Amino acid sequence: MSLRYDLHCHSTASDGALNPSELVSRAHEQGVNVLALTDHDTVDGLDEARLRAEYLGIRLINGIELSCTHLNQCLHIVGLNIDPDHPVLREGLAQQQALRDERAKRIAEKLAKKGILGVYEAVLADAGMGEITRTHFADYLLRHAYVSSMQEAFDRYLNKGQAAYVSTTWASLEEVVTWIVDAGGIAVLAHPLRYKLSSKWINRALTVFKASGGQAIEVVNGRSGPEEIRLAQQFAERHQLLASVGSDFHAPDSPYLELGRLADLPPQLIPVWNLFPNQ
Ligand code: AMP
Ligand code: MN
Ligand code: MN
Ligand code: MN
Repeated sequence: MSLRYDLHCHSTASDGALNPSELVSRAHEQGVNVLALTDHDTVDGLDEARLRAEYLGIRLINGIELSCTHLNQCLHIVGLNIDPDHPVLREGLAQQQALRDERAKRIAEKLAKKGILGVYEAVLADAGMGEITRTHFADYLLRHAYVSSMQEAFDRYLNKGQAAYVSTTWASLEEVVTWIVDAGGIAVLAHPLRYKLSSKWINRALTVFKASGGQAIEVVNGRSGPEEIRLAQQFAERHQLLASVGSDFHAPDSPYLELGRLADLPPQLIPVWNLFPNQ
């Protein structure tokens, strides 16, 4: 029997709507056998996720999604099968988390200049113990009717060039890949077609990624159609990278995006889970 994999999703430890237990239960209901929880710049959801995964008998892969800055662009690198307690990774995470908090305060200051007050305190309360992301700001703007959709919150306030955009220099691509590799994990370039960057740019970035120890690329995600899968497959083949699959699930309200609901990997590619240890 072939296993169902989902190697990219979010919980309330970052910008997901479900707590780690709810997320793992939902993945189990959707028939997922192997799940990686990959919250933004934190491993804090993993302990709770593991308890529920063990109870339900599904395999949990320790994961993370790190933001990095490469040539002034923000890229997302997923780490799979990391040791969440590794000191190099922990140190890196503390740095990224401080950047997230600083950025959140500055976003709130920009919103305050537009007459939208008190947002830092609100998103801090909303994020609880979790990392604050732009999703929290978008949620706030939507809940308080400053916008009528999440997309509009990003388009009008949070994206580059908009009123509340704050440019952040995350750790470099080389650094985040090194943290993952040091922590015993596999580095995966997440959603390569979502950056709106040229193939030439991505190819150059992949050369740096690979030279730093990166091993895989997300070829299938919850939103990819056949054309995107084909393009991602070309990146994988050209750079001889293993292929990963992940929904990037955040919340149950998105009708077409579900945990474990993913197209098959092109058969020519080598799946990243070939590197997972046997259980
Ligand atoms: P951050 O890492 O804090 O900059 O937040 C980025 C997160 O915002 C992404 O991981 C997505 O979950 C979310 N996001 C980005 N753009 C959009 C969008 N247009 N609509 C909804 N969510 C978005
Ligand atoms: Mn997110
Ligand atoms: Mn991402
Ligand atoms: Mn993600």
